[in-house]
Amino acid sequence: MADASPTIAVVGAGIIGASIAWYLTRAGARVKIVEAAKPGGVATPNSFSWINSNYSFDESYFALRHHSMGEWRRLAAKLPQLPVSFSGSIYLPAQGFDLEEFVARNSAWGYRVDLIGKTEIEELEPHLTLEAEVAAYAHDEGAAEAADVAKVLTAAAVEEGAELIQASQVEGLVCKGGKVAGLQVGDETIAADEVVVAAGAATPDLVQETGFQLPLSSPPGLLIHTAPLSRVLNGLVLGDGLHMRQKANGQLLAGTDFQGGIGLDETESVAGQLMKRLSEAIGTNQKLEFERYSIGYRPMPADGRPLIGRISGVSGIYVAVMHSGITLCPAVGEFAAREILTGARDELMAPFGPERFLDGA
Ligand SMILES: Cc1cc2nc3c(=O)[nH]c(=O)nc-3n(C[C@H](O)[C@H](O)[C@H](O)COP(=O)(O)OP(=O)(O)OC[C@H]3O[C@@H](n4cnc5c(N)ncnc54)[C@H](O)[C@@H]3O)c2cc1C
Repeated sequence: MADASPTIAVVGAGIIGASIAWYLTRAGARVKIVEAAKPGGVATPNSFSWINSNYSFDESYFALRHHSMGEWRRLAAKLPQLPVSFSGSIYLPAQGFDLEEFVARNSAWGYRVDLIGKTEIEELEPHLTLEAEVAAYAHDEGAAEAADVAKVLTAAAVEEGAELIQASQVEGLVCKGGKVAGLQVGDETIAADEVVVAAGAATPDLVQETGFQLPLSSPPGLLIHTAPLSRVLNGLVLGDGLHMRQKANGQLLAGTDFQGGIGLDETESVAGQLMKRLSEAIGTNQKLEFERYSIGYRPMPADGRPLIGRISGVSGIYVAVMHSGITLCPAVGEFAAREILTGARDELMAPFGPERFLDGA
């Protein structure tokens, strides 16, 4: 981009928009963050918020996520107020899950993951009552309090000069001479050299004006939240049909699956069963009290992989929509900002552009 200080309008202050806005601001762009509600996101606050590089479809997706795990540490060093921790994950034996194959495959890709025995499991998680002779331990995984991360990144961007335009729903793109030149918010036009659409599940509606039909599904996921209690879990535990962690505020957070197979007519009973399993999995004198359940919708491009980049044949617009946005937050923020400002696309992002969904691709 020729202008040393272009104006970039970012739609959405969930974890992805907030991250891109922060990296753009730090790189010297004039940034306007346009958010329909308040910073924090829609999918973001309803996420399990596990930072990992597992269950990857292939090595290229693994590599992007693995890189982002390293970037999380660099980001946390720059912004120590970010609520993120890297306390590792224990994978317990589960049906259809081959622990040894899992460790071998991920180790071969450079992941720090080992098989551990009963004693180590007990040392890592003394309150865990789920018995296992063997488990896998992924040393570098962690979790973030994702909505707070989005708020911190937005506030940090604003502190460095970005403008936050909140409670402002973007109704459409402003196109001039075949180029996206800004956003329509009510009667107002927000002019920009480039628009970044990081609107989560609302992204396809916003970009369709360019002619790009973004195939996205948003499978639901249910999580239960207990009342806060003193620390009973140090890291993440992934068991058979039960994954859990303890949030920074002491609440336990648990879910059953990562695929979004839940029917919305069965939420109460799923939440009840989940609470029972969670209570049985934790040994403590403290009372585990159910506080609430949440349903979130994962913004999932049709092939399950992230969609990040410019739409070929349309100038002035950059799109960033994905599942695993908590893991990918720093890498996507940094790579997207660099690409928007210099045109240089990182090799790790090569497979994840919108072109794979264009007609004839
Ligand atoms: C149950 C569940 C579990 C998950 N677990 C994990 C996990 O363990 N690890 C992981 O990495 N990922 C996980 N994810 C995925 C992760 O939460 C998402 O990838 C991430 O939150 C997406 O962030 P986002 O900023 O793109 O979207 P969102 O958080 O949805 O933010 C989009 C923002 O855009 C705004 N917006 C939308 N339309 C407009 C408009 N027209 N004008 C202005 N603003 C607009 C919205 O108000 C919102 O603030 C999970 C998701 C769910 C639902």
